[in-house]
Amino acid sequence: MNLKQFLQFKRITQLDFAKKLNISPISLSRYIGKERLPEKNILLKIYNLTDGLVSPNDFYLNNETQMQLGFNKIKEIKNLAKNIKLGKRKYLGKAITMIESSLEEDQQATQFLLNQFKRNDNSIRIGITGVPGVGKSTFIESLGLKLINEGLRVAVLAIDPSSKKSGGSILGDKTRMERLSVNPNAFIRPSPSDGHLGGVAKKTSESILCLEESNFDVIFVETMGVGQAETAVYDMVDIFLLLLLPSGGDELQGIKKGIIELANLIIVNKADNGLKKQAEITQREYINAINIKNNSRKEEKIDVLTCSSLESKGFEKIWKYIKKFVELRKKNQKFFQNRQSQRSKWMWNAVNLKTRDYIQKDLKFRTFTKKIQNDVEKNLLGIVEASDIILSFITKK
Ligand code: GDP
Repeated sequence: MNLKQFLQFKRITQLDFAKKLNISPISLSRYIGKERLPEKNILLKIYNLTDGLVSPNDFYLNNETQMQLGFNKIKEIKNLAKNIKLGKRKYLGKAITMIESSLEEDQQATQFLLNQFKRNDNSIRIGITGVPGVGKSTFIESLGLKLINEGLRVAVLAIDPSSKKSGGSILGDKTRMERLSVNPNAFIRPSPSDGHLGGVAKKTSESILCLEESNFDVIFVETMGVGQAETAVYDMVDIFLLLLLPSGGDELQGIKKGIIELANLIIVNKADNGLKKQAEITQREYINAINIKNNSRKEEKIDVLTCSSLESKGFEKIWKYIKKFVELRKKNQKFFQNRQSQRSKWMWNAVNLKTRDYIQKDLKFRTFTKKIQNDVEKNLLGIVEASDIILSFITKK
C-alpha cells in the first residue's frame, strides 16, 4: 500500500506523521505526491512506523521503473494488466512472452506489470513429476478436462531446463494435451527455453502470478527435464504429485529417494488393461514403504492411489484428496506459511540471478571472473577461496 492509503486507513493526519518522521509537512506531502524520493533513513522509518505496510518499493520501484519505461509503455502495460484481470488468454500469452524475454526493457516492464496485480491465494498450484513416458501430459489432460467440466479454469506450465530455443519444447507441439489445448477454459504454455534452471524457475513463478491475476482456479506445473527440476517445481506449488508406472513387484522404481520424500501424493498411472494388477501391486508396495515413514511424520500422511489417465479412471478420488489436502492446510495455516516461505525462496533465487547478471554484464568483472574461473578449473585456486574473492570484488565496487 502507498503512504497516502496508509494514512487514510489509519486516520493519521499528514501533520502528525511528519512529526513522527521528524520532517516538515511540506517534505512529507512531496513524498506522498511522488515529487521527491525520501532518503534511505526516512524510507526505513516509514517502513518501521507502518509495520512494513509501506515499503521502499512503494516509493522507489514504481517511480524509477515508470521513469525508465516511458509513458506509452506504461499505458500499454496497464492495459495489459486490465485485460489479464478480465481473463483474456491472448493478453495472458503476451504477458508471458514478456516475462520470458531477456531484454532489459521487458524485464522492467514485467516488474511493473507484476506490481499492478493484487495477489490472491485462491488458486491451487499442483506440481507433477515422474519419468518421461509415465503419462504426465495424459494425466494433466484427463484431470484438467474433469475440472473444466466442474466449472473450473485450468492452466498448465512446464519446467524444462534442458529445452533449447531451436528445438522447442515437447509441450510446445500441440499434439500433447490436444483436447485441453483447444478448450476455452484452459491455458497451456510450453516451457520457457533458458537453459538455466534458476532462470526458468523465475519465469515460471512469475507466469503463475499472471495466471492467478487472471483467476485460473488450478495451475499445473509439470517437470519435463529429468532429475533437476523437481525441487524447483516443489518450491512453487501447494501440492506435489509423483506419478509412477505399474512395475509389478519389482523393488521401488528408479526414482530418486529424495523425490519420493517431496511427494504429497503418489499416483500409479496406467492402471488399465493388462497393467491393472501390476498397478495395484505397485500401489501396495509404496503404501508399505510409506507407512514406515508416515509413523514418524504423523501429522500429514501421504497416500498412494491408482488411475488410468487414458481411460479417465480414478480421478474422483485423486481430486477429492487434493481438495481435502488444501482445505486442511488452509485450516491449519500451513498453506499460507508454505506460500510465504516460497516467496522468500523466489527472492533469493532472484538475488542469485541478478548477481550473476551483474557480474556477466560488466566487462571488467567478466574478464576478472574468467581468470578466477580458469584458475579454479586448473586447480590453482580453491572453490570457496575463489567465491570469496569474487564476492569481495562485488562488495568493494
Ligand atoms: P509424459 O512423458 O510423462 O508426459 O507421458 P505422456 O502423457 O506423453 O504418455 C506417454 C505414453 O503413455 C503415451 O503413449 C500415452 O498414450 C500413454 N499413457 C498415458 N497414460 C496412460 C494410461 O493411463 N494408460 C495407458 N495404457 N497408457 C497411458
